[in-house]
Amino acid sequence: METILREGLAALSLPTEGIPALLRYWELLAEKNKVMNLTAITDPAGATRLHFLDSAALLALADLRGKNLVDVGTGAGFPGLPLKILEPSIRLTLLDAQRKRVDFLQEVCQDLGLEGVECIHGRAEEFTQQRRETFDFAVSRAVAALPVLAELCLPLVKVGGQFLSMKSVDSNEELNSAGRAVSLLGGRLEKTVDYVISGTNIPRRLVILTKIEETPKKYPRTFAKIKKNPL
Ligand code: SAH
Repeated sequence: METILREGLAALSLPTEGIPALLRYWELLAEKNKVMNLTAITDPAGATRLHFLDSAALLALADLRGKNLVDVGTGAGFPGLPLKILEPSIRLTLLDAQRKRVDFLQEVCQDLGLEGVECIHGRAEEFTQQRRETFDFAVSRAVAALPVLAELCLPLVKVGGQFLSMKSVDSNEELNSAGRAVSLLGGRLEKTVDYVISGTNIPRRLVILTKIEETPKKYPRTFAKIKKNPL
């Protein structure tokens, strides 16, 4: 695991100081995964690539230093927690609708002595009431299709900030169908970047949306409405 991490981070030109913390995080995750569902990937090599290095890729694609970032639907902490471990200047909000997952994240942050992280149990569409347009970046992986996800994430981002959506390379249709939602929410498709997870041939895509104007106050709607009638 350590070798795969070291080589993967080096290939991304990222510092390796965070490796012991990432290894400890995995130890806690693998242990807790025995009693609750946190990840389907249980082999250490797979988790290193598909969780840690996949998350780390964002640091090579966006300048997150010193930024205020919310990870929407973070689950067991991906991509937010590896980003914070590898780039400690990030101010991180981990948000998830499942309390048990948030409790686990709290334990990890405490164990690792991380500062500048808040772990919040809540739904993105409700959290927006407290923190509308306050984040430099929203990030999200494997939570919902882009038209739905845009309504959950873009309202949290400041004008001038960005929403980084981690998607698969076969997301063309999803991307095309999200154009209307993105523009109604005050966003603009900046670009998509296709890449492979460091040290593998696994293809991934980052969809970068820029917030160009305020999101109208009527968004986000309730989740029932968002789901029933995506923008
Ligand atoms: N991002 C992680 C977890 C993906 S699973 C990863 O890539 O590994 C999806 C997670 O999103 C679940 O933990 C679920 O509780 C959370 N989720 C789904 N809808 C949400 C919402 N509206 N607000 C906050 N969290 C949500």
